[in-house]
This record gives sequence, structure tokens and C-alpha cells, in this order.
Amino acid sequence: MGKPTGFLEYERVSNTWMEPSKRMESFEEFQIPLDEKQRRQQASRCMNCGVPYCQSAIELKGMVTGCPLHNLIPEWNDAIYRGYDKIAFDRLLKVNPFPEFTGRVCPALCEKACLNGLDGQSVSIHDNEKYIIEIAYQKGWMKAQIPTVRTDRKIAIIGSGPAGLSTAYLLNQRGHSVTVYEKEDQPGGLLMYGIPNMKLNKTFVERRIVLLKQEGIKFVCNTEVGKDITRKDLEKEYDAIILCVGSKTPRDLNCKNRNCEGVYFAVDFLTKNTKHLLNDKEAYINTKNKNVVVVGGGDTGNDCVGTCMRHGAKSVIQLEMMPKAPDERLESNPWPEWPKVCKTDYGQQEVIAKFGHDPRIYSTTVKECIAKDGHLKQIKTVQVGFVDGKLTEVKGSEQILDCDVLLIAAGFVGVEKTIKEDFQLECTARNVFKADEKFQTKADKIFVAGDCHRGQSLVVWAIAEGKKAAEMTDKFLMGYSSIQS
Ligand SMILES: Cc1cc2nc3c(=O)[nH]c(=O)nc-3n(C[C@H](O)[C@H](O)[C@H](O)COP(=O)(O)OP(=O)(O)OC[C@H]3O[C@@H](n4cnc5c(N)ncnc54)[C@H](O)[C@@H]3O)c2cc1C
Ligand code: SF4
Repeated sequence: MGKPTGFLEYERVSNTWMEPSKRMESFEEFQIPLDEKQRRQQASRCMNCGVPYCQSAIELKGMVTGCPLHNLIPEWNDAIYRGYDKIAFDRLLKVNPFPEFTGRVCPALCEKACLNGLDGQSVSIHDNEKYIIEIAYQKGWMKAQIPTVRTDRKIAIIGSGPAGLSTAYLLNQRGHSVTVYEKEDQPGGLLMYGIPNMKLNKTFVERRIVLLKQEGIKFVCNTEVGKDITRKDLEKEYDAIILCVGSKTPRDLNCKNRNCEGVYFAVDFLTKNTKHLLNDKEAYINTKNKNVVVVGGGDTGNDCVGTCMRHGAKSVIQLEMMPKAPDERLESNPWPEWPKVCKTDYGQQEVIAKFGHDPRIYSTTVKECIAKDGHLKQIKTVQVGFVDGKLTEVKGSEQILDCDVLLIAAGFVGVEKTIKEDFQLECTARNVFKADEKFQTKADKIFVAGDCHRGQSLVVWAIAEGKKAAEMTDKFLMGYSSIQS
């Protein structure tokens, strides 16, 4: 169980983040890993609980707590503590096909359920996970695993985000011939175009795609299913089709003069920025010396804030419609439930460091875009609150803010039009594809996984869904499955 007294002897130490002023100089990742001795001490803090909530993914009050992949956390913490990194790697990869992604961007549902967190500081599970996979790449343990036996079954996967990649990885390992269709010019979904480079450097996405290609997965990029190739074409050619197309229709802003120049959706803005980083000939929206307002106080909004800070924006404000969450857990939200608390993420920290104030303004939304010659110059905001369960404007609370660029990060409203119209599948109230417990739609041989099934969620959930869809598709094709999701 690691070191029986580890959690008593050592405080939690997380990977250090570079100072905001330093990290804002570039779009590079800014975490500085611990040295080996410190890492092993951190792993020794794991108590190997009889019931490890960290890997449980149990549902409490409608929300899951613990790792959705059921990562074998106490096992690999113990192996790290003892210096058995190869064993830690083998155990990690047994359930998590993409720890290089979760070890960077997962909000660590595991840590919120860690028993050490009940009366102290949880184990640094997320950072330990990243340590294992990066050591594995450094030592050459992470190699392409080329399947030795092939079946004659052909599978099409639409979309190459974490759900598509995880489904493709497992079905290819099983021996099926897998082709992944992607409308963008590069595979990776939101891992590539969405999540910014400073959170997940794109070389790490590309590094893994190289291995997946060597393993035999075929990627067909720049191909939009529903437009360049249709459901009918795919049905003729493949034994099964798995839709992993995400839930990327952005929620729009319903305000006066919305269509003036200078208003953009967050993912378009972030995508262009990444494309420009990868190829400086690509055009992007530069917010240098601009007054920026981001609508939406969530993670996507924070990624926009961090990106604008790196551009050198003149000012950055983030509007959030909901009131501020408490700083500490409320009694009604005890461990091991997911803590509903206010977190100040990297982008917001950077605004505080540079401008001396938190960028967030709560209980506020945009009422009007004010433009000159068609270009956005200011916005009119208004405070909002719930009256009888209905979101209502507070009379007389309007304010004018200078704003050259308005970024809409107000969430997502389901699957995109092209694929929906081509496939004509039943959708849920959240405008995502409806499927049974086998991840199968009512249409013969069509499965779904990831955000296009559960709605906008997290990378770890997309990977978990991809694994389940792979197992179910395999069963459908072979009558049984050796894939363990
Ligand atoms: C800005 C942003 C930041 C985020 N940050 C985090 C984070 O830090 N941590 C975290 O856990 N989660 C984060 N998320 C959420 C996470 O990225 C998603 O939940 C996850 O990527 C969903 O995976 P997916 O495979 O279902 O879909 P996606 O990643 O959306 O991939 C779907 C893919 O399908 C392709 N596609 C769509 N339609 C077609 C078609 N017709 N033909 C061919 N291809 C098609 C798309 O181009 C895309 O590549 C973030 C989301 C956003 C928007
Ligand atoms: S995938 Fe996420 S929830 Fe699971 S162990 Fe890693 S950091 Fe924790």
C-alpha cells in the first residue's frame, strides 16, 4: 500500500505552475514537474483505501465522483512509490488508453473523491498519472502495438476526438480494420482544435496519432460525413459505423446587434489560434491591444481569457450569468461529492496578476452590442437573477463596457446540422443522439459515443464512452467481446 505513514509525513505538493508573467510570454505548457524523489513521496501519500472512492465513479445526487475510467490509482501510486515505474505504466495503460491527455487536461474527478481530501489534501493523482506516461515515452516503453491477428470486419468511426480515438484504438487492437473520418485537417477533435496549446501541447496529440497510424488505423481528414461522403456510402462499405462527432453547436447570444463585426464563437477563435501556432500563414483573431469581453464563466471562457492574455489584450472581462459559487464546500455538498466551489483557473489568475482584478462579473449578461461603422465598440450589460425560477433582468442595472472583441463561450446545444440531417437519427431533448445501453441507435449497425451521446462533457468521459462503444460494437460484430470497458 505505498508507505503506511506517507500521508502523515508529507504534505501534498502539486506540479508548480510558472509565474503568470512568465507563462503569458508564450503558448507553451507551463507546468513544472516535481523531481523524482518528490514524485515518489507524493505517491506514498496514497493510503490504498479498502474502498477506493478515487477509482469508483459512483453517482451521488446525480453527479459522478471518482474516475470514470476506473483507473487503478492505488496500484500505480504504490508502484511509483517503490520505484517500479514500468509496472505503474502497465497498470495505467490497462484501463486508460490516453493518459497523456487526461494527465494534462482532466479536472481530476478522482482527487475530489480521495479519502485524504476528507480531512486534508488529496493525493496528487492527476500529476502522478502524467509522470507515469511521460516516463514511459522517455524510456521508450510507449510503442505502437501492432495487432498480429486481423478479422475481416470493417468499421467506420466518424470524428477523431477522444471518444473516436479511444473507440478506434480498442477496435483496431481487436483486429478489426478501422477508418476514422474527420472533417478538420488534423485528427484529435477538441484535443487538437479547442483545448489551447498551453493546456495540451499539440505535439503530444500528434505524437499519439503517429502511434495509432503505425498500429494500422486509417485517418481520412478534410472529409465531412454528410457532405463529402454520406451515411449511404458508409453503410455500403462498413460492417459498423460509430458516430463520435461531438456536440459542437455553440449556444448563440440573443442580443441586439449580435451580427456586427467583432463577435466570435469561442471554439472558432481558439481553433484559429491553434492553427496559426501550427502554421503562421493561417489567419487568426489577434486581440493585442483590444478590449475583450468573454461571455461565459466556464472552462471554455477561461481558455479564451488565457489566449487573449497571451496576445497582449488591453483589457479582459468575463461575464457569467450565474452568481458566484462559494469558495469552500457547503455542508450540503460534502466529500466525496464533486465540490461545487468557485475555482480561479489559469487565465483568471493571469488577469489578476496583470490587471489586479478578477476578470469575472457574475449575474450579468450582454443586452446589446454597440457598433460604429459595423464594428463592435462597446457592449451594454445587464444584471440578471432568478425570479420564480425564471431568469429576469434587474431593472436599471445596465452598464456600458468598452469592447472591441466579444467571444461567446456560452455552452453548446448539441450535434451539428450536417451530420444530423444526413443520419436522421432520433435525438434527445439535449439534441444529442439517442442510444440504448449498448450505445446502439435504432438504426442497424450505427453506434454513438462521447459528447454527441452524453452532451458536452469531459475528455475522460469521452474516452470512457469510446471504450464502452468499442466493446458493444465488437460484441455486435463477433457475438462476444474480449474488450473490457
Ligand atoms: C475550449 C474547450 C476546452 C475544453 N477543455 C477541457 C479540459 O480542459 N478538460 C476536459 O476534460 N474537457 C475539456 N473540454 C471538453 C472536451 O474537450 C470534450 O468533452 C471532448 O473533447 C469530447 O470528445 P468527443 O470525442 O466526444 O468530441 P470532440 O472532441 O468534439 O470531437 C468530435 C470530432 O468530430 C468531428 N466531426 C464532427 N462532425 C463531423 C462530420 N460530419 N464528419 C467528420 N468529422 C466530424 C469534429 O471535427 C471533431 O474533430 C473542453 C472543451 C472545449 C470546447
Ligand atoms: S483520468 Fe482524470 S479522474 Fe481518472 S485518474 Fe486520471 S486525472 Fe483522475
